[in-house]
Amino acid sequence: MRIRFLGTGDSAGWPHPFCDCDSCQAVRGTADVRGNTCVLVDDTLLVDLGPDGVRSAARFGIPLSGVRHILLSHAHADHLHPEVFYWRQWAGPRDPVDLVGPPTALQRCAPYHATDSAVRPTPAVPGERLQVGDYAVLPVQATHDADAVLYDITGPDGRTLFYGTDTGLLCEETLAAMTGRAFDVVLLEATFGLERARPSEHLDLVTLASTIEDLRGRGAITEQTMVIAVHLSHRNPPPARLTNELARIGAVVRRDGDVVEVGSSQRSPQWTDQAELDVGSLAARVDETDEQSAQVLQDRRRAAHPQLAGDGDLDRLGRWIASVQGKSTPADFERARAIVVVADHVVAEGVSGSLRSGAQQAADLDAGTDPRCAVAAISGVGIRCEYARAAVGDADVRAALARGLAIADDEVDRGTDLIIATNVGTGATASAAAVVGTLLGLEPTAVTGRGGGIDDAGWMRKVVLVRTLMRRARPSIADPVQLLVHTDAGDIAMIAGVLVGAAARRTPVLLDGVVTIAAALLARELAPEGPGWWLPAHRPADPLADRALGALALEPVVALDLGTAVGALAAVPLLRAAVVGTRAP
Ligand SMILES: [Zn+2]
Ligand SMILES: [Zn+2]
Ligand SMILES: [Zn+2]
Repeated sequence: MRIRFLGTGDSAGWPHPFCDCDSCQAVRGTADVRGNTCVLVDDTLLVDLGPDGVRSAARFGIPLSGVRHILLSHAHADHLHPEVFYWRQWAGPRDPVDLVGPPTALQRCAPYHATDSAVRPTPAVPGERLQVGDYAVLPVQATHDADAVLYDITGPDGRTLFYGTDTGLLCEETLAAMTGRAFDVVLLEATFGLERARPSEHLDLVTLASTIEDLRGRGAITEQTMVIAVHLSHRNPPPARLTNELARIGAVVRRDGDVVEVGSSQRSPQWTDQAELDVGSLAARVDETDEQSAQVLQDRRRAAHPQLAGDGDLDRLGRWIASVQGKSTPADFERARAIVVVADHVVAEGVSGSLRSGAQQAADLDAGTDPRCAVAAISGVGIRCEYARAAVGDADVRAALARGLAIADDEVDRGTDLIIATNVGTGATASAAAVVGTLLGLEPTAVTGRGGGIDDAGWMRKVVLVRTLMRRARPSIADPVQLLVHTDAGDIAMIAGVLVGAAARRTPVLLDGVVTIAAALLARELAPEGPGWWLPAHRPADPLADRALGALALEPVVALDLGTAVGALAAVPLLRAAVVGTRAP
């Protein structure tokens, strides 16, 4: 079962269009903007039909032409925009579509599809099972409106989804119907966030917690269930804090546009989006690079130029490219992509010299207004920003690793043959220093650099922070997941996932900057053959970089500090030159 979130917000959406509260300011214009809650299952079953959901499908590149079944929770306008049935008719003759919903919702739709015989309405009655195409659907009573339902949905693969919005505290008959269901995914609303919701209408973070507890007690939610908060409004705290609050009660959030794959599918290797990643299985996925091809290339070059005593750096790069491509005559890179992991650490106060937040930088990179975009254009590199979240617990780190693996997988599926791993954000180098210091058993002062450019007092504060992180992390030196939790390194986890995922798909990576280098050191713990697939683009002037690159025995493309992101982008033409060099007589 594949669940795509077309929307995860409440009726006004988050940010609220007319509000300037902190929660709204934190997300306005970012990837955390949330429209009306609406999900698309397996590209064929659409749950709820608010005005945002249908339109956002287009923004996420999803045609709704494959939709054959529509489930409506109730007739409120953020869940039902009946004009959609006109739009569908205007697109020309369509395949039949099942329309399931409570009677009042069906009545609202009726005038809009009166002339469209392809729409087949079926009333949803709480407790009465329906077969909707290949899906077994059980509507249950919502606590919201006399005529509102929630849905228990079983897919053709046997996977299960509970769609739980809009509702207040669940009534006894609904709880009874959910007992023992052990759902794969449960969506529950958290409309009122930090404020108190009327329990007869909606949930807030407190009543959401008690609902999750109830459902755990009844076996509807188990350790394997992914609980996702939806119908989110600006009454919730800003994203990083919301993630933390939800982690405490065993729930997560997903962004509009996100996809959750439940169970395995045909694509291989398939990384689950759930926090159940088996970290120990990663090592076996990464093979050695092809040293044979590199050797053949070297022998050929030596035979052609017996007068040369040694070889130059371009020859060294050429051999690396031969080893990762598995070709003694390497091909030019056809699609190079920079994966920019974005994270702003809460600890950044006073220890970070970065003037602009990661979110601001990512917005500029996405808009093409960041100067680095011009360098990327010269180098023929596409840019993809991905947001990492705070690593509060084990599940966050596993999810970040899984996300990184999935990003690499997605890029390789799209034809990417060179990945540049980099990051932007405030306070990231303190976590990087703690990871490297812990893994290599070094003093905090030996791995703490000046990050975005801090003064002596700032450096001393940073050393104290690194020392604190290292003290927490040291007992977990043999457990990469716990180590990342204790160093607050959600971004490093995601980058490590990208590095391992790329190596698993035999795709080379250029490492850029100290955070990425720290991620490589950590990723080697997960996949010992990984470093063969990774090459540092340049040498950041930071003690951490020297230590980590020494331990990894990796030589940078150029031994200069070219600056984060710019360095790796500028190194790409050198790699292309090295490819040409391998063909020289
Ligand atoms: Zn609603
Ligand atoms: Zn607001
Ligand atoms: Zn409602």
